[in-house]
Amino acid sequence: MAGYVFLVLAAACVLLWLLFGRGFGRRPAGMPDGEVVYCGHREPGSRLLHAPNHHLAGKPDYIVKQGDEFTPVEVKSGPRPKKLYRSDRMQLTAQALLVEAEFGKRPARGYVLYPDRAFDVAIRPKDIDRLTEALQIMRKARETKRIPDAYPSWFLCPTCPNVRCPKRVKRTRGKTDR
Ligand code: SF4
Repeated sequence: MAGYVFLVLAAACVLLWLLFGRGFGRRPAGMPDGEVVYCGHREPGSRLLHAPNHHLAGKPDYIVKQGDEFTPVEVKSGPRPKKLYRSDRMQLTAQALLVEAEFGKRPARGYVLYPDRAFDVAIRPKDIDRLTEALQIMRKARETKRIPDAYPSWFLCPTCPNVRCPKRVKRTRGKTDR
C-alpha cells in the first residue's frame, strides 16, 4: 500500500513539474541567442547593479552574453508600439551603463521585447549624453531641492512614472485632458 501511495505521489510531482515547473526560467519570446548571465526580471532576490560614475543603480530584466558582448534586454508587457518609445530607449541606455560598469565593456546594442515584437536598439553616444545630462539635472534638483518646471505632454505624460505630478496630462478616448 505504501509503495502504491509513493507511486501516486511521484506521478503527481512529475505531472506538476510538466505543467508548471518547466515554465520557470523560460526565455521570453524574441530573446536574443546567448547565455543569460543576469536576470532581474521578477526575481525579488536579484542583485542591484551599480554604475558609480553615473550615480546609477538598477536591475536590467536580463543580460545576455553573446561572444564577448553583454547585451541588456528589457521585457515589456503592454501593447506593442509602432515605434520604440523614447522612454524605452532611455531605460535601455541606462541599463547599458550598468552593464558597462559590471562587465567593463559598453554594449553596442540592447533589446526591448514586447509580447509580439522585439526592438533591436543601438546604444548611441547621443543617448548616453542625454541620459548623463538628465541625471545631472536630477542630482542638482535633489541637492538644491529646486525641482525644474515640468512640461506636460500628451505623448510623455501617460507613461511617465511621476504619477503625482500636478501637471500630468491624461489621455481619454483619443482626446487629452489636463
Ligand atoms: S507627468 Fe509631469 S513630469 Fe511627467 S511628463 Fe507629464 S508633466 Fe512631465
